[in-house]
Amino acid sequence: MIGILGGTFDPVHCGHLRTALEVAEYFGLADMRLIPGKVPPHRAQPVASPEQRLAMLQLAVAGEQCLRIDGRELHRAGFSYTFDTLVSLRQELGDECPILFTLGFDAFLHFQSWYRWQDILQLAHLVVVHRPGYSLPSAGWYSAWLGTNAQELSVMPAGKIYPLAVTALEISATDLRKRLENGRNPRYLLPDSVLDHIKTHQLYCGT
Ligand code: ATP
Repeated sequence: MIGILGGTFDPVHCGHLRTALEVAEYFGLADMRLIPGKVPPHRAQPVASPEQRLAMLQLAVAGEQCLRIDGRELHRAGFSYTFDTLVSLRQELGDECPILFTLGFDAFLHFQSWYRWQDILQLAHLVVVHRPGYSLPSAGWYSAWLGTNAQELSVMPAGKIYPLAVTALEISATDLRKRLENGRNPRYLLPDSVLDHIKTHQLYCGT
């Protein structure tokens, strides 16, 4: 069983990292991958280059064994569709391995607008993590897919939607970029190694 967390990571912050670690711990995953997108289809394009975002991610997970960076979307042309990423993971992992695709409630609320979203559910489970300011309504289009216990997800490869409360950290990359542009200190919201990299390479300073 593997877990994945996709995003722009522009830059990676403690909200992403705690989420990835807590999902890995909850499901007992030895392989939890953060997968940066090159050209996100659903939002504004990233400020930092793919290479810079990848470098920051690698610094962020250094020394944490279960967290890995998977750069496959950066090598693909065109939009970074989750569907394509899951197809390529399936080619490597086979049909039986459960894949836990992790996303925040904010992202989940727009899930039905994603490219081939029904097919995504044939390829992976969704683990929907709580984030401050968002909540999953008690019933909705997803009711038929809702998983009731974590064990269910480990015995089937795909097809369940599982809400999971993680430590709520009100941190967003948008807020971090604003702080950096305005010359404010974002320390403790992201790893020191990532902040050092941002300063060394003068990222997000608005010049
Ligand atoms: P931006 O502010 O630029 O939109 P972001 O901080 O939301 O960025 P993304 O890279 O877009 O970060 O997010 C990747 C994934 O991580 C999404 O599924 C998102 O819901 C989730 N995520 C982001 N921040 C948090 C957080 N503080 N806590 C839990 N999940 C988060």
